[in-house]
Amino acid sequence: MTTIFHKIIQREIPADIVFEDEHVIAFRDIAPQAPVHVLFVPKQDFATLNDVPVDAPEIIGRLAVAAAHYAKAQGFAEDGYRIVMNCNAHGGQTVFQIHLHLLAGAPLGRFGT
Ligand code: ADP
Repeated sequence: MTTIFHKIIQREIPADIVFEDEHVIAFRDIAPQAPVHVLFVPKQDFATLNDVPVDAPEIIGRLAVAAAHYAKAQGFAEDGYRIVMNCNAHGGQTVFQIHLHLLAGAPLGRFGT
């Protein structure tokens, strides 16, 4: 399924891209929930975390490590940050191409129900 994130990867719609390599693209969230809110998205298609095969876990690691490198490069890694991946309805997922949220820039509140 083509999502808005695929269109960003294909440069069909604009985004504020902050990082890109062979496997991952990262861009600022259009509706930030923290002073820093960046989405790390794989270029390979996976609608949800449930769709990542057990023998191909590396993409999740790539997203997390790219987020950590970005935090270090931007100078907020020591202060800290949060990474979150929402899955399906109860997780609040609205875009069905997996993506890791990186939230930072202020102390973050607790979350849950
Ligand atoms: P939620 O919408 O509940 O956060 P997701 O985890 O699926 O669910 O996150 C989708 C994210 O994509 C949202 O934070 C939303 O603001 C962001 N978003 C939607 N469209 C765009 C866009 N064109 N550019 C950047 N971010 C976008």
